[in-house]
Amino acid sequence: MKKNVLLRTNFLVCIVIVIGFVVTSAISYKSNQGIFRKDIESVSRLTSEGIYHQIDTIFTKPINISLTMANDSLLKDFLEGEEEHLGDRDFIDTMRDYLNTYRDKYGYDSVFLASVKTKNYYYYNGLDRVLQEGDPENVWFYSFLEQDTDYGIQIDNDQVEGAGNEVTVFINCRITDGDGDVMGVVGVGFRVDSLQALLQGYENDFGVNAYLVDEEGNVEISGTYTRFQGDSNLFEGCAFAKLKDTILGSREGTQNLWYSSKKSSGYVVSRFIENLGWYLIIDHDTTKLNERLSLQLLREMTIVVITILLVLITITSVIRRYNKKIIELTVKAEKVHQAVFKEATEQLYENIYEFDITHNQAASEATSAYFESLGAPPDIPFDKALGIIAQKQIKEEYREGYIRTFHPDNVLEAFENGRDNLQYDFMITTDGETYYWMRITAHIFRWQEDNSVRMLVYRQNIDEQKRHELYMMEQMQKDSLTGLYNKVATQEHVRRMLEQGPDQLFAFFILDIDYFKEVNDRLGHAAGDKVLVEFSGTLAGQFGKDAVVGRIGGDEFIAFLSITGAEMAKEHAGELIRALRNRTEGGVSITASIGVVLAVGKETDFETLYKKADFALYKAKRQGRNRYVIAAADDENK
Ligand code: GH3
Ligand code: MG
Repeated sequence: MKKNVLLRTNFLVCIVIVIGFVVTSAISYKSNQGIFRKDIESVSRLTSEGIYHQIDTIFTKPINISLTMANDSLLKDFLEGEEEHLGDRDFIDTMRDYLNTYRDKYGYDSVFLASVKTKNYYYYNGLDRVLQEGDPENVWFYSFLEQDTDYGIQIDNDQVEGAGNEVTVFINCRITDGDGDVMGVVGVGFRVDSLQALLQGYENDFGVNAYLVDEEGNVEISGTYTRFQGDSNLFEGCAFAKLKDTILGSREGTQNLWYSSKKSSGYVVSRFIENLGWYLIIDHDTTKLNERLSLQLLREMTIVVITILLVLITITSVIRRYNKKIIELTVKAEKVHQAVFKEATEQLYENIYEFDITHNQAASEATSAYFESLGAPPDIPFDKALGIIAQKQIKEEYREGYIRTFHPDNVLEAFENGRDNLQYDFMITTDGETYYWMRITAHIFRWQEDNSVRMLVYRQNIDEQKRHELYMMEQMQKDSLTGLYNKVATQEHVRRMLEQGPDQLFAFFILDIDYFKEVNDRLGHAAGDKVLVEFSGTLAGQFGKDAVVGRIGGDEFIAFLSITGAEMAKEHAGELIRALRNRTEGGVSITASIGVVLAVGKETDFETLYKKADFALYKAKRQGRNRYVIAAADDENK
């Protein structure tokens, strides 16, 4: 019961905490996620915006300068006369100075001119080399000539002397003559590392990855990679590969896209840079942030679990402590109550025992101790203990009644029939010799704790009371003058003997003193009384204790006993006559007349016997008194 309450309380508290946690976490997770998504979106867009403008600025100027040079008539004239002046050092120097002037003025790492006719490659220090077709290093030149754009952007190593093969962004512009034929390629170059530094700066500051990719998704420049290192497609194997077509399919404005897969998630902002024909792609990978959020959730869950455990421990210990206190207080109060109760009941009862009838066992320590004191093994079933008690302590004639009354079957049956108490008086001994009267009053009730039927037994010593009662009963049955049974008791005892011996032969005697009136008249009433007492003594002595001997009227007596045959009745009657015949009182001889009837128990009753015997007596009186007459069979209706 208590355990159930504790479990229920703990369960409820757990539920409340878990619900609270789930609701709070869900709200907080949602709002955090909203804030964090907005942050990521705006940071990514601003980063994209910033990089886009810087790149645009970085590229616009060299493109414009290259285009200016491409349209410069000086250059066109130079290329026109180049073949004629190939050996002319001054002519070549003019070009060197021209290119060097641009380089100095704008600070580019490279300013170059490549001639279609001679394939000569000029740079700020003069003629560098001749571009051989088929040389992989010169692919850029031949492939550019095949394009029909005014300019192109090429990332390559700078091969000119003194450039140290540095990776460089080249702006290539075509120079055309009046007929539109290509005369050469001019342009500027700047080191790619400054662009990478720009991207890296943003990447580091805003936690994003920035890429410049061509129309097919090949990475041109990223913070750590340039096209010069080879072709590498951004969308191959990356987390947002699915977005390839969406991103590369749009050249208008920006594309802002969330993506997520099993392994990673993030936000992509893409924008097409018209000038370069490249896409600027900003990828904000949120995998780690999500992991951090999950970790945060895990931490919160751990805290909740710890909190729940602490709360459960606290609740359990508090409830247990209070339960203990309540039990202590209850037990204390119960003990006080029991002590008062015991004190009160001890004056009434010798012992109080308690039994669990349903489970056939003792239900209190005192009861078990009582069983053990009788030599019964511990935990003996109640019905077995009853037998031992009966055998050891209860007077033989009461044993059966005692066991029958308090046997569990009888107790349960009585309780089912609506009785809640039983009582039995019997004689008991504690020393094995002297017996005294004991009354057991049993109260039967249902014990709510386990729904068993229980019995509280109060033992009360009623010896004095019982003996007095019995004495009184006896006195009530006796004739005060003679000490024999009175008329009512005589009738009662005769009836009982008839009942108990249905097949037994009995003799019924009615005795009447002859001329008793005269005794009274002549000797006085007291002498008459004395005669009556003496007559009674003779009568009682004649029949012994198994016979019922009573006085039923003034000088009229009854004796009733079982006999073995008519002879025995005659013997008794004769002896009585003889015994009385010799008696005298004050010179008056005392005799009596006797009417006798014989009968079998089941064939007669008191009234019949009385009637028949009285008739026989009447006959005896009529025949001269001082005799007995045995009723004949045909006397019945007389
Ligand atoms: P019978 O031979 O016909 O029996 O003559 P009887 O004189 O004995 O007559 P009966 O039996 O009718 O008389 C009984 C007398 O017993 C009547 C009454 O005075 C007397 N008596 C009744 N009770 C007592 C008593 O308690 N004490 C004394 N002393 N006499 C009693
Ligand atoms: Mg008489």
